[in-house]
Amino acid sequence: MFIYIVFFGDIEERLILGVAGNVRRTFGLDVRVSSVPFPPKLGYNPSRDQYHAGTILRYLGSLDFPKLVKLVGVVSFDLYEEGLNFVFGEADLGGRNAVVSINRLRHPDEEVFFLRVFKEVNHEIGHCFGLGHCTDPSCVMSFSSSVRDVDRKGEGFCSSCMDFLKSSLNPYLRNPDQDPHKPHR
Ligand SMILES: [Zn+2]
Ligand SMILES: [Zn+2]
Repeated sequence: MFIYIVFFGDIEERLILGVAGNVRRTFGLDVRVSSVPFPPKLGYNPSRDQYHAGTILRYLGSLDFPKLVKLVGVVSFDLYEEGLNFVFGEADLGGRNAVVSINRLRHPDEEVFFLRVFKEVNHEIGHCFGLGHCTDPSCVMSFSSSVRDVDRKGEGFCSSCMDFLKSSLNPYLRNPDQDPHKPHR
């Protein structure tokens, strides 16, 4: 079972590898990076010069891969949703697909930049596993309306979000130490 990540736009190789490694560590599932064409100007709104997040989510929903658990699209361009100036990302709550924009997360210090991206990717995948927003300001599931909020929160899940996440992940994880068919001696 795999979490797949697809990258659209101008995204450096180092970040792609970093995100893949971070997702693998955070969720304990294997990660595959796939390259998929991005339909020209999909979701592009010329009057805003931004891309509509929901349209990209629907496109992700049309894709399929072997043993796919969750699919994350990481895009270099700026995203919006109706009624909002911009969004860092969007996900199907308890569903399969998520999209994250790195556009507003850039920082001259690569470490700061990458950490911001890891947080937003973890956050949107958390939504896919059914987590809502968390009131713990240090939890990665707390809501961010600015890049300052992104910097404030941690990259990990608070204990209650982690408990929830573990139960959502349970069907996908194999634990050889807990084989119910193994006889006790
Ligand atoms: Zn959220
Ligand atoms: Zn939390």
